[in-house]
Amino acid sequence: MDTDVFGRLPKVDLHLHLDGCVKPETVLDWAKAEGVPLPSSDPEGLLRYMKVDEGCNSLVEYLDKFGFVLPFLQTEASLERCAYETVERAAADNCIYIEVRFAPLLHVERGLSADRAIEAVLRGLRKGEEAFGVRARAIAICMRHHSARTNLEVVEAAARHYGRGLVAVDLAGDEAGHPPAKFRDVFALAREYRLPRTIHAGEAGGPDNVAEAVEGLGAVRIGHGVRSRENPRVLELLKDRRIPLELCPTSNVQTKAVSGWHDYPIRDYIERGIAVTINTDNPTVSGTSMTRECRSLAERLGFTVPEIARLMANAIDYSFLDSGEKDVLRAEFDRRMAAIDVSIA
Ligand SMILES: [Zn+2]
Repeated sequence: MDTDVFGRLPKVDLHLHLDGCVKPETVLDWAKAEGVPLPSSDPEGLLRYMKVDEGCNSLVEYLDKFGFVLPFLQTEASLERCAYETVERAAADNCIYIEVRFAPLLHVERGLSADRAIEAVLRGLRKGEEAFGVRARAIAICMRHHSARTNLEVVEAAARHYGRGLVAVDLAGDEAGHPPAKFRDVFALAREYRLPRTIHAGEAGGPDNVAEAVEGLGAVRIGHGVRSRENPRVLELLKDRRIPLELCPTSNVQTKAVSGWHDYPIRDYIERGIAVTINTDNPTVSGTSMTRECRSLAERLGFTVPEIARLMANAIDYSFLDSGEKDVLRAEFDRRMAAIDVSIA
């Protein structure tokens, strides 16, 4: 198989965290400007502190890596730059559309408001769109370790930017320690504002969290959901309600949401009629890209190029763009596919 084809394939990444996408070169710039000492003075050496290694044992260990970059992501300038560089990176990976998620309240340590943090990210994404031609939208995350009251603030701020580059809200963080039912009021408010909801569930927690995310919190997409297979009723629920899973294969292997690539349930889900997408989650932390995810699916799980192209075409349908924007994106996808002479399964 020509595995280079995955580099050229037009791709869509619906599950991508802003703070999991920071370049080590950029951290070096920020540290220099602020006079902050770092454990290494070259990008290679610094990457060791930003990326998980083979020894990662859980989602909590994985999330620990974000602590290294978050102190820098506390100004409008750094958020804007990070968002811009996320689009730049996606363009180099031949993505045509990305949804970039971040938790506004993780960026307020130096006095920013949730609104200012959101505006800075939207500005960076917009400038990235103009410079690189990749469409980019934002998703605001409520954090599990924050109180419900604190998270209501995130939903209020998200509602003020809905339709202006922000397309949805999410719930993320330590799933095992904070089950979704705790956040019913938060997502009831999102529902009042008609904000679409995607929720991390069934990653470090079991299938009951997936059911609660859908039935209790009104999720229309599920982040990960790899562990849904542990309960047939939950699989039926996903199928009946046509709830797509945002699978992030490399990340799911690293956080031990599955025991290894041999155990990855994507084919099983497709065969059961469940909608799936593949995504990067955190390109820097996981050491991945959409091209790598596609290649892994082909090499480790036997997916064909047309099958992977189908996943990308489907991801456009499951995106939070409005129907007119989806039509434009589909036309672009078709144009790019014709140029590389690949068909869809
Ligand atoms: Zn995630």
